[in-house]
Amino acid sequence: MQTSNIDLSTFVKGTNSFLTISDDDIGNEHIGTGIETPLRPDAFLLSDEEKISKIENHFREIMEVLGLDLRDDSLRGTPGRVAKMYVKEIFQGLHPENKPKVALFENKYQYNQMLVEKDITFYSNCEHHFVPIYGKAHVAYISSGKVIGLSKLNRIVDYFARRPQVQERLTVQIANELQEILQTEDVAVLIDAKHLCVSSRGIKDINSATVSSFYGGKFQEEKTKSEFLKYLSLE
Ligand SMILES: [Zn+2]
Repeated sequence: MQTSNIDLSTFVKGTNSFLTISDDDIGNEHIGTGIETPLRPDAFLLSDEEKISKIENHFREIMEVLGLDLRDDSLRGTPGRVAKMYVKEIFQGLHPENKPKVALFENKYQYNQMLVEKDITFYSNCEHHFVPIYGKAHVAYISSGKVIGLSKLNRIVDYFARRPQVQERLTVQIANELQEILQTEDVAVLIDAKHLCVSSRGIKDINSATVSSFYGGKFQEEKTKSEFLKYLSLE
């Protein structure tokens, strides 16, 4: 298997540009332009129901332009289904209201221990082609005295995955959110993913995978980083 590695640890929090290159290069090479998902200020003026209705009409138009017969029983409901799926499922992580609410607990007994949650399955979509990116996320943190419920780690990964994404941004968004919630810099995120826009179209490379990582605080030290990577290789 061919694997590309991208280490995002040197990425500075608060800046908003990965690179300056042309629109075509950005799309073809799957490069994101910043940490924040590019949303307009009026992104949430429409209700979910209004969005579903608009998207349904536009998607019907796409299908009609493609020459599909929308009177067919199998296709009739597709525009409505796609619209609902976009707003309520696969892109629901765009809406700040859907961000998981996370409660912190005191961690009296395992202070300073590394906590690793590995193999979190996620499904996202490439923002350049709107086809799936899927894979595993592995996250870790060293408690600053607070811990969160393990299922919340999965929920945070899921929330940021449910947007049009690029893998680098997904990695950094999860890491930044964990740093903020857990009140520590000591956070690591590693994502191993497949991009259907690479395997099912374009160069049709079915075996390649992309690994991106973020190491904050103590995880930048070789000892801590290798302890984390050692946990990931355990079966
Ligand atoms: Zn793509």
